[in-house]
Amino acid sequence: VDFILSEDGSGKGAALITAVIDKYLYAMRFSDETLRDIMARFRREMENGLGGDTNPTATVKMLPTFVRSIPDGSEKGDFIALDLGGSNFRILRVKVSHEKKQTVQMESQIYETPEDIIHGSGSRLFDHVAECLGDFMEKQKIKDKKLPVGFTFSFPCAHSKLDEAVLLTWTKRFKASGVEGMDVVKLLNKAIKKRGDYDADIMAVVNDTVGTMMTCGFDDQRCEVGIIIGTGTNACYMEELRHIDMVEGDEGRMCINTEWGAFGDDGTLEDIRTEFDREIDRGSLNPGKQLFEKMVSGMYMGELVRLILVKMAKEGLLFEGRITPELLTKGKFETKHVSAIEKSKEGLTKAKEILTRLGVEPSEDDCIAVQHVCAIVSFRSANLIAATLGAILTRLKDNKNSPRLRTTVGIDGSLYKMHPQYSRRLHKTVRRLVPESDVRFLLSESGSGKGAAMVTAWASRLADQTRQ
Ligand code: BGC
Ligand code: MG
Repeated sequence: VDFILSEDGSGKGAALITAVIDKYLYAMRFSDETLRDIMARFRREMENGLGGDTNPTATVKMLPTFVRSIPDGSEKGDFIALDLGGSNFRILRVKVSHEKKQTVQMESQIYETPEDIIHGSGSRLFDHVAECLGDFMEKQKIKDKKLPVGFTFSFPCAHSKLDEAVLLTWTKRFKASGVEGMDVVKLLNKAIKKRGDYDADIMAVVNDTVGTMMTCGFDDQRCEVGIIIGTGTNACYMEELRHIDMVEGDEGRMCINTEWGAFGDDGTLEDIRTEFDREIDRGSLNPGKQLFEKMVSGMYMGELVRLILVKMAKEGLLFEGRITPELLTKGKFETKHVSAIEKSKEGLTKAKEILTRLGVEPSEDDCIAVQHVCAIVSFRSANLIAATLGAILTRLKDNKNSPRLRTTVGIDGSLYKMHPQYSRRLHKTVRRLVPESDVRFLLSESGSGKGAAMVTAWASRLADQTRQ
């Protein structure tokens, strides 16, 4: 197991401490055998979601996106992209031109999404989005134009075409009333009409995973998977149309939004969930839902660590049993703290700072212990993602009917980007679980906006053709 701290530099004491914690948290450390088993389970969940008979009751929804190909290099135009549902609400202007080669120019602005708005009424939420869009167009001096808009909406949606997206359920921090079961394109259009000070043409709604795959696909034609490991987690990939029972047609491929965050919602992961996972779920906005997401994503990781620290302190295993009000406060230990504590050089110093702020007066040994707790929790996350991604990769390989798979995975998300060890661990485990693959992991430097613009370009070209 390669996350036991090496003895050099940390001494014998450290080895002993980490051994104790390894034992204490043994339920969070998976053998490759267990990971392969989880991979096989997720593979079955994917098949259930794709099959016509099994889809209605499937936990992993495998939603058709109506995106049929990655960018082909011919896209051009002037677009607006909205990005709602990740750690920031962002509006972008994306200009794609074709002088000698295709070039993309982007400008963007971040807008606040206060809690009273994301937990209030749906109409207020969409009024807010429309207001920010108006502000952005004003600043860009394009309020008199009717630019095509691509909407990256990072929640599970049912599509029957690109510009219709019915929200199935809110996830993560969002819970505005009256939106579930509704088409978000209609809701946004209504909010824009009500204002009457500008016009917009919402051409496409894409999940952030799809936006990420398309963004990376712009640079690497081999990209056929998109994953997000941020506030929430999810993946999409290109599936053969003949395997998608919910969509007519047998030729070519379509991007499927797996919504893997819901893996386990039917009890499939009960054997690997811990008391800490159950406590996180009980205290969440959506109990019983997104159980896989709650074990791995950034919205919950800091809190998972905090719950472990509280239990260990209560048992006298940390901080000489000191428990402070801060340590007991939900949200006081954040995922960004996990990232800071796991830095290879300053990690222990960071641990000392962060724990001191919680008032627990940590000793050197406490800092080493907490660092190891962080490592186990974040490593578990990377391992679980490696298993589900492994299932997608083997499926792609089987679809292509080839002994080896050469492919590119586009990735984005705050946890993946900010955590100092996460990406390395993930890549390593994926390569071990799917040895018959050559995978290139491509970080989406510019988020999903460029990809959303690509889809929008495609959609507006199609609309022009139909109009003529
Ligand atoms: C949502 C997905 C989204 C993911 C990452 C999940 O909670 O259900 O649609 O892709 O978060 O943002
Ligand atoms: Mg995002």
